[in-house]
Amino acid sequence: MTTRVDTDTVVVGLGAMGSQALWRLARDGVDVIGVEQFSPGHDRGSSHGESRIIRTAYLEGAEYVPFVRAAWRAWGELEEASGSRLVVRSGALMLGRPGSGAISGSIAAAEQHGLAHEHLSPAALAERHPRHAVRPDEVGVFEEAAGVVLPEASILAAVRLARQAGARVWTHQAVTRIEPDPDRPRVRIGDTEIRARRVIVTAGAWLPALVPGVAGLGGGIRVERRVLGWFRITGPAPGTAPPEPVFARDEPDGTLWYGFPSMDGGRTLKIGVHAESPEVRASAVRPPGAQWGEPVDPDTGPRPPDEADAHRLGELATGLRGVAPLPERMASCMYTMTPDEHFLIGRRDELPGLVLAGGFSGHGFKFASAVGQAVADLARDGRTELPVGMFDPHRWDTPPTRL
Ligand SMILES: Cc1cc2nc3c(=O)[nH]c(=O)nc-3n(C[C@H](O)[C@H](O)[C@H](O)COP(=O)(O)OP(=O)(O)OC[C@H]3O[C@@H](n4cnc5c(N)ncnc54)[C@H](O)[C@@H]3O)c2cc1C
Repeated sequence: MTTRVDTDTVVVGLGAMGSQALWRLARDGVDVIGVEQFSPGHDRGSSHGESRIIRTAYLEGAEYVPFVRAAWRAWGELEEASGSRLVVRSGALMLGRPGSGAISGSIAAAEQHGLAHEHLSPAALAERHPRHAVRPDEVGVFEEAAGVVLPEASILAAVRLARQAGARVWTHQAVTRIEPDPDRPRVRIGDTEIRARRVIVTAGAWLPALVPGVAGLGGGIRVERRVLGWFRITGPAPGTAPPEPVFARDEPDGTLWYGFPSMDGGRTLKIGVHAESPEVRASAVRPPGAQWGEPVDPDTGPRPPDEADAHRLGELATGLRGVAPLPERMASCMYTMTPDEHFLIGRRDELPGLVLAGGFSGHGFKFASAVGQAVADLARDGRTELPVGMFDPHRWDTPPTRL
């Protein structure tokens, strides 16, 4: 027998994005149910590992800057409402050769939007950022308006506030089917069917398989494995107060890796690899079948970190002074990659009643506060003032051929 439940809006998946949407809707008095297959703040999706970078001079594209500004404002609202510190300002340091993507992309975004930033010569880098062992051909760009967002704490804060504002939060319940409908889309969880006016789907790595047609958008959305490593700080560190900046470093071989200031009082710091060139992938020493960026079935989860991951992260950590040669702890995580590495936010005509937010391609967390607001607006009003047009899920559609 099917149990039927009615509500205004359902949010499927209470990770980075869904938790924020749930809070925004509940705060505005909307009758909303949030459904999560695990427990909010869990470590089986894309939002664990204690820290995420937020930057403003956006090297992935100057067109993101208005959205990241909206995200800063929205993080401030969540911090105020929750009484918790969720964003730690540390500044950000981009490192690389003068024409590399990290350097030229962040300068372009800063110049186009008049953002404060500093160009650092190799000598200035060595003097001001001794943590980094830079080559003579590497330069830096420093930006003050950057730092660290706390992922698990943010999700828990948003879900707590949503509950307090009246949201129904169903945890340890997996949505098995979503049926689009212009008036009354339905969400199926075992023998329960929720009928709503709108369904927001923020299912992260599970989104492509959960919503019909999404997996193939633009030629295919891929779920990939990534590994994070925490390195013990051994040497005379350049101090922890004020915090060292977050950083991203663009290597001449095409590897883009990043790291954080210590978040545990100077004991360890965390690094990870965002992207690697095909050549580096091919030459890396890895166990058979274990490729960087290997595809993941989210239901099985990414392979646990292994020795090859430790070795790879250790290679990169030689670019840092005063850290142990190998990580003392690692975690694997999932990226959900769209073909153009831009997000997927909005509706599709053949999925009436649904609002999608996914495909965050390894750089979405910093925007979660604004994404939550945007999808809440779209579900409630059918429109949003936030600049999400570039993330339109229809953007890959080819125009109909005229006969
Ligand atoms: C290693 C790593 C480092 C990163 N670094 C950065 C960074 O520095 N800065 C940055 O901005 N971004 C970063 N990102 C990207 C960012 O973390 C992600 O883009 C973001 O967390 C994605 O959020 P999400 O809400 O889409 O997914 P998630 O947070 O994974 O949420 C999806 C939720 O949906 C639930 N769910 C799925 N299917 C169902 C179902 N059927 N029923 C019920 N619940 C369901 C899941 O359990 C999960 O809780 C990083 C990502 C990784 C993996």
